[in-house]
Amino acid sequence: MDLKSLLKNDENEIIAKLQKAISFRSVREDDGSGYPYGQGVQDCLQYMLDLGRELGFRTVNVDNQVGWCEIGEGEEMVAVMGHLDVVPEGDGWTVPPYESVVKDGCIYGRGSTDNKGPVVAALYAMKAIREAGLPLKRRIRVLMGTNEETGSADMKYYLAHGGEVPVMGFTPDADYPVINGEKGLVTSTFAREWKQSGDIRIVKMVAGEAPNIVPEKAWVELSCSSAMADTICGSNMEKVRYLPVDGGVRIEAEGVSCHAASPWNGENAAGRLLLALRKLPLEGEVKEVVAFLADKIGMEHDGTSLGIKLYDEASGPLTLNMGVVTADENSVSLKLNYRYPVTFTGEDCIPVLEKQFADAGFERTAHIHKNALYMAPDSPLVKALTDVYVRCTGLDGTPICIGGGTYAKSIPNVLAFGTTFPGEVTRVHKSDESISIDHLMRNAEIIAEAMYALAQ
Ligand SMILES: [Zn+2]
Repeated sequence: MDLKSLLKNDENEIIAKLQKAISFRSVREDDGSGYPYGQGVQDCLQYMLDLGRELGFRTVNVDNQVGWCEIGEGEEMVAVMGHLDVVPEGDGWTVPPYESVVKDGCIYGRGSTDNKGPVVAALYAMKAIREAGLPLKRRIRVLMGTNEETGSADMKYYLAHGGEVPVMGFTPDADYPVINGEKGLVTSTFAREWKQSGDIRIVKMVAGEAPNIVPEKAWVELSCSSAMADTICGSNMEKVRYLPVDGGVRIEAEGVSCHAASPWNGENAAGRLLLALRKLPLEGEVKEVVAFLADKIGMEHDGTSLGIKLYDEASGPLTLNMGVVTADENSVSLKLNYRYPVTFTGEDCIPVLEKQFADAGFERTAHIHKNALYMAPDSPLVKALTDVYVRCTGLDGTPICIGGGTYAKSIPNVLAFGTTFPGEVTRVHKSDESISIDHLMRNAEIIAEAMYALAQ
């Protein structure tokens, strides 16, 4: 029997096991349970390991950080990696988020797509391969992590404690077709104190909410003489409002919000506000800092004026987002998020950017850097996954590069592959997350075919 038919035989069981997996609220909690990510995450991991054992796989629990299930023999191992932790359910659900309600052919629940559905599908894909009696040259392992949503410390632990590195693998935790490149990702906070002088003083400035979102709104409150307030309120700049307030002026800038990975779809309100401030007769340190930020970044999203404009054919331009800016009378701080193209390294941009902030008196107070990931389109893993995708779906399989980072970055030799099809709506991380049963079964088939292709 072929893999698709074997999976079809297990359809009801796949649905039931996924429903049970969704019922665990596996949100990271520091709950004093003694488990690395809390009792809910632990219960889900334990359930999935028990299921793996029930299905006849070798199973290992790596200190409650990662669980894995394996079949086959051989020196080398290929892996399918997924995660069992979920983001908090949030508001706005029309069905209970942990009761796995089935409606209109879809299973609803937090984690149904991200990522429990694909993990359950992977376990049954492995079962189908064993039942089909297909010859394997390599072992197949399903790696189940528990900390993807809040830092992937699970995979760091696995690697640091002798966890075997697969020779090839994929994580069905993103989109189809295969993602052969993920830009390098840097999120940094810079802060400095300032002494204010002159007639115009910054009382408070607020722009943006998160480093990975282009700010939609930005405002500043200035204190100044009433004559200066009159002058400032006579200014005119597109999408900027100048409002008289007690003892000074409030300036509001408007932008267009979008994700920081594609900043060309938005307009940065923080940058616009800084450009408006740049035109005022500021003095001293405030003048220097505003000039630095307005001239070196302003509304730019490709790092040109910072001297870090990078580009490659595979993944396009470096993107830069000034996601959060806050200031008060004594200090200013900003959060930057920048993503460099896949064929470059952090060395090509981080030191250049940081030197300029240091020279402008800023201190780096937080920093996260994830290296870029790239495999050439003609590499064996990319070719194998592309072939499977085209064979199973008949869709265009041209590999893609993205600006975001996936679970694939947390372990070598792994790419993101699936499970959201082009144009499909999944509501991952939102209310009413769901997976259609048809989609779940199609994924199980693609995962099985891909596992087999890599293990041959
Ligand atoms: Zn995920």
